[in-house]
Amino acid sequence: MKKLLLHACCAPCTTSVYRLLKEQELSITGYFYNPNIYPTAEYEMRKKCMEFYSAISGLPVIYIENDLAIKAGNCVECYETRLRAAARYGKKNGFDCFTTTLLISPFQKHDVIKETGEKISGEEGIGFFYHDFREGYYQSREISAKLNLYRQKYCGCSESQKARERKHEQAA
Ligand code: SF4
Repeated sequence: MKKLLLHACCAPCTTSVYRLLKEQELSITGYFYNPNIYPTAEYEMRKKCMEFYSAISGLPVIYIENDLAIKAGNCVECYETRLRAAARYGKKNGFDCFTTTLLISPFQKHDVIKETGEKISGEEGIGFFYHDFREGYYQSREISAKLNLYRQKYCGCSESQKARERKHEQAA
């Protein structure tokens, strides 16, 4: 059975990605590495939620502490940093391939994530498991609500937090 390392951005996105992946002949391990999340309190909430989901779903998850700062608003670098870390960890620890829950979001730059994963796969010598997980996006919302998972209001960095606040103010 192939071993897959699943970079997990948060628990809500992981729910239906994990459900879809379980239909395949794969041994799956989560990999929580998200130094983009700002501020620390928000990071801790997302991490805690991941720990809770891991416990109830049975998905084993590796947690990597934040070791660097990602420039807010630079999505390409943000994807690259997280996927590169997953690929290197996977390669070093005997995984056959890696993928990311970022591929479930209709709000992310899906094609850039796909291209970044494929590029890193070639450079690091580990397979990239691509699937358009967006088909499961609404299901992930339903599962998260049912499990009462903490659902973040913005992508992660300070720029995305500010953009969310501006949108909220305009709507008020
Ligand atoms: S908007 Fe999201 S993907 Fe882009 S830099 Fe910020 S946290 Fe990273």
